[in-house]
Amino acid sequence: MIDLTLVQAIEKLRAREITAIELTRAYLDRIEKFGTELNCYITVTPERALSDAAESDRRYANGTARPLEGIPLGMKDLFATKGIRTTAASRMLENFIPEYESTVSQKLADAGCVLLGKTNLDEFAMGTKCATSYFGASINPYQREQCLTAGGSSGGTTSAVAGGLALIGTGTDTGGSIRFPAAVTGLVGMKPTYGLCSRFGCIAFASSLDSPGPIVRKVDDAALMLSAMAGYDTKESTSAPQADAIATVLREPLAELSLKGLKIGIIKEFKDVEISADMKKLFDAQIANIKSGGAEIMEISIPNILDALATYYVISPAEASSNLARYDGMRYGLRIEGTGLEDTYKKTRAAGFGEEVQRRMVVGTAVLSSESYEVYFMQAARVRRMIDDAFNKAFENCDLIICPTSTITAFSLSDNLSVLEMYALDIFTVPFSLSGLPACSVPAGFAANNLPLGMQVVGRRFDDIRVLQLAKHIETFAGLDNRPTKVMGE
Ligand code: GLN
Repeated sequence: MIDLTLVQAIEKLRAREITAIELTRAYLDRIEKFGTELNCYITVTPERALSDAAESDRRYANGTARPLEGIPLGMKDLFATKGIRTTAASRMLENFIPEYESTVSQKLADAGCVLLGKTNLDEFAMGTKCATSYFGASINPYQREQCLTAGGSSGGTTSAVAGGLALIGTGTDTGGSIRFPAAVTGLVGMKPTYGLCSRFGCIAFASSLDSPGPIVRKVDDAALMLSAMAGYDTKESTSAPQADAIATVLREPLAELSLKGLKIGIIKEFKDVEISADMKKLFDAQIANIKSGGAEIMEISIPNILDALATYYVISPAEASSNLARYDGMRYGLRIEGTGLEDTYKKTRAAGFGEEVQRRMVVGTAVLSSESYEVYFMQAARVRRMIDDAFNKAFENCDLIICPTSTITAFSLSDNLSVLEMYALDIFTVPFSLSGLPACSVPAGFAANNLPLGMQVVGRRFDDIRVLQLAKHIETFAGLDNRPTKVMGE
């Protein structure tokens, strides 16, 4: 049962070949068996899961089943869940129990999903290997005895889905947090167009970039899950009015995309970025395949794209420093009493935030200070606009863009990457975040070390469906077997 994809599981549930309770029990058993080793959940909710599953079985029995009825789900612990501890993997919110539900988690519940628990992440989603979590790093199910990273920040979700401790899971992507972890765990991770999935109730990191999205094993599953997550939300000011129409189309099986005459862009400037020989080989093979299907491969230029990293690491800390100002020991979470108000702020924030979050608060506050605002923040905003203009221009000539997701495969959690080396891992993901473009990471194949590599398909804003359609071509050609029992060596 654990190896079923989302689409297959729905079929079996509908045909009453399996029950939601059986499916949920199978996942809870695996959480029991492997949960501690993989450290993919911060909080497990077995009672909630079993009562959700019982409701699903009732609905299958009386003909009122919803689109994702009975599907066991891991929810990134950045989405507020009413009555269920929501930590953002931070000591600051270690015991925080929200009084409201995020739109995305509500929509998934309304679609019939069974909540297994809240998955691990980098603290406040700041990181690339899920190691800044107050609860410790998640482990990649691939070659798990080696303790490789499951990627970050959504590493708890990718670890859970790849290892068969959740059938599907949610992520959020600010600069790559869905796509990079999906790539290094052999999964499909879709960062939808900014505004397609509501940010309401999703703990804020950088509000102009944060994008919730699905993490699953197959592209068809991504489309189906996204159909339940996407939608216009009056509670969220940047929610896209187009979202409902896209969600409706996604409810139907993905139509096949004809490659004939399709123009696929390859970004010229990315050629200067060093990638592994394995990634290059897989990427070239995919290009050849897409070409043989009748698509035209063309070079496009995004002149400032290599400045996207620096731009992102000015803009995102700036927004984060403002968003995280609310954790002052007065309103939410942790409070360490000091000698007065200011001392309480200081003590609380010093104890509540980990090192990486503190670094970003310092950087963000610095670039927003009156001396630095013009030279750093405004300059970054200008470069962001230039990158966006270049994408708009490129999309006048091409339909979709492809590029690698990462330069490398999963690395050991004990590798001591410097902060800047860590940030540099986001080189292929942040440019599209800055422009709010839909970008899907899909397995491209295995490297020589038997670890998965991913590549991205990127589209115009709101062209999410075509992004998924091309991703499906790539997935089919790669033919990567990511059944959890195989990944876990069972
Ligand atoms: N790795 C990036 C960062 O640390 C992206 C994180 C994210 O997308 N949430 O900011």
